[in-house]
Amino acid sequence: TERQLVEQQLIHNAFHDGLTGLPNRLSMLDRMETLLSNQRFRQQGPLALILLGLDRFRMLNDCLGHRIGDLLLQAVTRRLERAVPAADTVARCGGDVFGVILHPVEAVAAATEVAESIRTALDDPFTFGDHTVHCTASMGVVACGNERDANELFREAEAALYEAKRTGRDRLLVFESSMLDRAWHAFTVENDLRRALKDHEFRLHYQPIGALTDGRVAGFEALLRWQRASGDLVLPEGFLQVAEDTGLIVPIGREVLRLACDQLAGWSALVDAADRLFMSVNLSARQLGHPGLVADVTDAIESSGISPADLMIEISEGLLSDREGPIPAVIVGLHDLGVPLCLDSFGAGGLSLAELHRYPFTAVKIDRSFLAGIADDLERWRMVDGLNALAVHLGLQVILEGIEERDQLRRLVELGCSLGQGRLLSGPVDDTGAERMLLVHPVW
Ligand code: C2E
Ligand code: MG
Repeated sequence: TERQLVEQQLIHNAFHDGLTGLPNRLSMLDRMETLLSNQRFRQQGPLALILLGLDRFRMLNDCLGHRIGDLLLQAVTRRLERAVPAADTVARCGGDVFGVILHPVEAVAAATEVAESIRTALDDPFTFGDHTVHCTASMGVVACGNERDANELFREAEAALYEAKRTGRDRLLVFESSMLDRAWHAFTVENDLRRALKDHEFRLHYQPIGALTDGRVAGFEALLRWQRASGDLVLPEGFLQVAEDTGLIVPIGREVLRLACDQLAGWSALVDAADRLFMSVNLSARQLGHPGLVADVTDAIESSGISPADLMIEISEGLLSDREGPIPAVIVGLHDLGVPLCLDSFGAGGLSLAELHRYPFTAVKIDRSFLAGIADDLERWRMVDGLNALAVHLGLQVILEGIEERDQLRRLVELGCSLGQGRLLSGPVDDTGAERMLLVHPVW
């Protein structure tokens, strides 16, 4: 009857994914549960689960549109079904994550072989109309021959997948128990970060960048802090990696830009118009690859009313080191907007010098490692001298970071360097501390 047909359809829908027609996560767990709890099935051999996540799918979806995103998921489904033995199960676990249950499987090695063949199957680019899409995948693999809880096994494969993504993507990792601790840590931090964003727990501290000769403050570097409800102040090293891995750095970075630009607008009233201050903001890899970043910067500039020339964006040299081909669109966009760009950690990140001139930088920040021993090590001194001269010849402004000792400062002044930053002048301080520095002239 019609009623029975509708019922059957509803049951089908509950266990299948509408877009790809594959069994969904629920249905996959159900099948795993059956295979794991039933002794007859266990005697046939162990079960392996491969979880596969498409690399950078979210970015691709944002850039090319959801229609292409959907087509890609369908095309990946077809290739997966071809690469996996017919008797085994392919499922879509949600978003860009697919699961493959192999049973019976001889050993983990056999599962990794299937995973490798999946990788090969995804090698060829996908074509949708005018778009050619290259798509790699990260995979987590787990195998088990005992009676186990399906949800637990799923979590282990998830932890391995997360680790594969975290350690560079486009790779396959077999689960190890240490991965669970790391995944759990990342999971709790991620949840906390989402809440922190909602509750406005992110603050900026400001570190002055001063003239080397007299300590006059020329600008500030905005440094992100997380002020937890407990009162603890968390430094970037405690959460930046998770924010980066989960993509939360994009909305957090938006907040940073807004806070930094608003603060600069507020301080402009405190200083003479002749002593224009600048505000420097750091970017991470994820932000550099996020096409919406230029719009975020534009919004922050416009709503605060500052001039684009008074904002500076710092891009760490390490983010550019293994890049070939065109300059990232975000860099071009920011340059077109009139925002000065600074190469952070210059000399330590492995950017080839031949590449340097291709980028539209206005300034470089020489990495602090060069300053260690500069006071009594002639070689070091010559390195800093050389890097400074190179940058000056290229028409770049130079900032020396990590100045901690008076001897270092003396040496740098001898070299004729103009701007510096470091604990000798001041470490990062909150807004009131920074204001005090603007009113009371700091001296190195
Ligand atoms: P960075 O850009 O190299 O920032 C400078 C770091 O050096 C700061 O650490 C600062 O406290 C520290 N520092 C300052 N003076 C001295 C000194 O004299 N000696 C030494 N040894 N260190 C000094 P912080 O605030 O923990 O920031 C660490 C990193 O986190 C930054 O490195 C930057 O890459 C990243 N970061 C900070 N804020 C943001 C942000 O808003 N967005 C993004 N994407 N990254 C950020
Ligand atoms: Mg920096």
